[in-house]
Amino acid sequence: MPDLGPKQPLGYIANRFDRASERRTDGSLAARDAEAGAYVVGGELVVLRKASAPEALFGLAEARALAPVRESVFLGLLDGAPRYGLAIDQSAAEALKERADFLVIDLRSIAIQGLVAPEHAAALAEAKAMLTWHARHCFCANCGAPTLVGDAGWRRDCPACKAQHFPRTDPVVIMLAIDGDRCLLGRQRRFGTGMWSCLAGFVEPGETIEQAVRRETLEEAGIPCGTVTYFASQPWPFPMSLMIGCHAQALANEIKVDRSELEDARWFPREEAAAMLTRQHPQGLTTPPPFAIAHHIIRAWVEGDVVA
Ligand SMILES: [Zn+2]
Repeated sequence: MPDLGPKQPLGYIANRFDRASERRTDGSLAARDAEAGAYVVGGELVVLRKASAPEALFGLAEARALAPVRESVFLGLLDGAPRYGLAIDQSAAEALKERADFLVIDLRSIAIQGLVAPEHAAALAEAKAMLTWHARHCFCANCGAPTLVGDAGWRRDCPACKAQHFPRTDPVVIMLAIDGDRCLLGRQRRFGTGMWSCLAGFVEPGETIEQAVRRETLEEAGIPCGTVTYFASQPWPFPMSLMIGCHAQALANEIKVDRSELEDARWFPREEAAAMLTRQHPQGLTTPPPFAIAHHIIRAWVEGDVVA
């Protein structure tokens, strides 16, 4: 097996919070404001404080003073202290770029560049997904009336029809189809030059994970699959998904690319995939970086940890 070096951590998974759901309703949180901390999100942007290294966590009062707060969510407790996600307008976050003491940057770049410790990247992922859900559910999906926040941000209530709305995360399957000593990778048009990745798609209502893997692989690349094996999952806050990583046994090898979904798809031998993972491919082809689950799905197969 090729030596791919030390494994690097998957992004957004190191959440350390006790979500303490019972505290969302018991009214005891406000008494802890002095020791509370907050993460500040403005649309696609995150506000970091410049220090010797960028810092994601602000004191609650300090965070509230940055800009008008649009929404607030209790993320959980860390060592007993409350942690919140605060939403400010994206324009307010943009304005903070002018300040020398802040770094305002998107969450993907934070993970790629390793700007904050993994536990803070995970907290930001929770905050961004939750605040995105709030931004998109200001009106009742049942009757159209404006909704009100409940349960410290974990529910929205409709005063008109009494419907209760709860935060959602969208399940996405992301998979590597395997044909003996080759794996199937695809390219979306938005990918950077030379990058190839696993195929992926939303799980549809009424579908199992395995069925979604088989359907997406057949739709996008014309490859039918047999056995599907679960590998790992990853919160993916773009905007609020859960990536479900799988390996799948390909039952045919003739690819038919759906050009509306993919720019291209093809088989890659194990040695070539190894060179892409380590960024030593002679033509400069790469896989996604280690913060993304695709990297780990491909790596597990290259290292022989997967039988398909
Ligand atoms: Zn309603």
